[in-house]
Amino acid sequence: MIVTRFAPSPTGYLHLGHAFAAWTAARAGERFLLRIEDLDQGRAREDFVAAIFEDLMWLGLSWDEPVLRQSRRFEAYRAALEQLSHFTYPCFCTRKEIADEIARAAEAPQGPDGPLYPGTCRHLSGDERQSRMARGESYAVRLDAAKAAETVGPLTLIEHGEAHAVQPLLFGDAVLARKDMPASYHLAVVVDDAFQGVSLVTRGADLKPAAHVQRLLQALLGYPAPAYAHHRLILDKAGRKFSKRDSAVTLRELRAGGMTPAGIDAML
Ligand code: GLU
Repeated sequence: MIVTRFAPSPTGYLHLGHAFAAWTAARAGERFLLRIEDLDQGRAREDFVAAIFEDLMWLGLSWDEPVLRQSRRFEAYRAALEQLSHFTYPCFCTRKEIADEIARAAEAPQGPDGPLYPGTCRHLSGDERQSRMARGESYAVRLDAAKAAETVGPLTLIEHGEAHAVQPLLFGDAVLARKDMPASYHLAVVVDDAFQGVSLVTRGADLKPAAHVQRLLQALLGYPAPAYAHHRLILDKAGRKFSKRDSAVTLRELRAGGMTPAGIDAML
């Protein structure tokens, strides 16, 4: 049975791009799930969560219960982080220290989200880690990507039915958790896709690179690998991605203007 999901972050109203993503997931799945990605407690809002349900129902979508909320899953993320502890290290660098280090480097390898972390804290001794943690210095938990990749060996991921070699170092030593956030996006998605039994991940092509580090985490955690089907992005007339700031294309604005779900479907 193909299990798909739609996983919006409640940090704004759903727009045309979300309608496309939700319909794509629902149509591809024999079982369709909903996950509210409200990890970022500073930006997630309850009124946006309520609006997600309302807008999806207006689109004519229904999903299998229960709806998963990432804000209720912190224990599961902590357990996964614990399971990964052999492949992680504490990173005490501030954003500024990382930027300075990158500026000093002769060449800084680039990742999908910008320059990769130069690995400064990977080289700290066990004693230094202990004493800095004991002093209460705040830190992020990073994946030792090279060590992880070496341990799991070559991996493949299935994208639109085709096998591709995984690039485990694409995001470098990705952050898996921070002091104020028990799981990064990558860790939470991997833990929850496995927990919900998602077998086909459909989402926008902007997240295609993320599948590489997510596949690595799945292998480390011993989870089954879902297949991927990244879809085209819905762009505005100028060729830009719709953002949450464009109120003109939110589903509620379109609805208020008399648009119907069938009209939106046709437009997409
Ligand atoms: N929550 C993410 C978003 O709003 C989607 C995550 C995913 O599909 O993996 O873009």
